[in-house]
Amino acid sequence: MIDTHCHLDAAEFSTDYRAASALARAAGVTRIIVPGVSVACFPRQKFVVATTPGAYAAYGIHPLYLTQSDSGDLQQLRHYLQQERPVAVGEIGLDFYAPQADKAQQTEFFAAQLQLAREFELPVILHSRRAVDAVLHALRRHPVRGGVAHAFNGSLQQAAEFIKLGFKLGFGGALTHAGSRRIRMLATELPLSALVLETDAPDIAPAWLHGGRNSPEQLPRIADELAQLRGMTVEELVAHTDANAREVFPGLDAGC
Ligand SMILES: [Zn+2]
Repeated sequence: MIDTHCHLDAAEFSTDYRAASALARAAGVTRIIVPGVSVACFPRQKFVVATTPGAYAAYGIHPLYLTQSDSGDLQQLRHYLQQERPVAVGEIGLDFYAPQADKAQQTEFFAAQLQLAREFELPVILHSRRAVDAVLHALRRHPVRGGVAHAFNGSLQQAAEFIKLGFKLGFGGALTHAGSRRIRMLATELPLSALVLETDAPDIAPAWLHGGRNSPEQLPRIADELAQLRGMTVEELVAHTDANAREVFPGLDAGC
C-alpha cells in the first residue's frame, strides 16, 4: 500500500520516524512519499528519506512557508531537483485560508515551481485551500505532467477539471469523520481511477485517534473505511489506488 503524502520529517516524528515507518511497513504500507515544505527543512527531509526503507522524497515550497522565502530558495529547490531526483515537486500550491495570506507572493512561487516541475518533467503534489479555482487557473497557464491534488475538498466539477489535467485526488483521515459529508461524498462518487490514498501524518488524524498524532500505520484502516464507503473489498480498492499512485509517480520503484 502506498501512502502518497506523509510528513515523516516533521518535528512530531523527530524521535521515532524509524519506529513509525517500521510499524507502517509491518501494517502493509510499503511506500511512503515525503513531501517538502521549506528549503530549510530539505536537509533533514533528505536524511529521513535516506534512512527509511520505502520512503521517497518530493521537494517543494509549501504556500504557508513562504514568509521568509526569496528567489534564492527557488535556486535551492532547483539544486535539489537536479541532485536528488525526487519523485515529484511538492507540496506546492495556494492557501488563501489565512487572512494574512500574501496571495501575490503565493501565486508567484506556485508558478515558478510549476515551471520547475515542467522543466524536470516531474509530477506535482498540490496543496490548495480556499483556492481550488486559482490552482486550476495556474495549472492551465503552466501545464505539468499531472500529480496529486492532496487532501482534495473541492466540488465534483473541480475534481473533473483536475482529472482532465492528469491529476489524481488524495483522500485520507478526513473521510473517516462522519461530519465530513462532502469529502465522504467525493470519496464515494469519484471514479476509482482518480483516487490515491494518503495520511498527511502527523496531521488530519482519522476519527479513532481523537485528534492524536496521525501516523502512516493508519493507512490500512483508512483504506478499509474508504472500501466500505464504496461497497468493495479493501484488496480491490488498494489494487486501484496503488496503480493510480504508480501512474502519477513513475519514480516509485516496482516490487515491494
Ligand atoms: Zn502536507
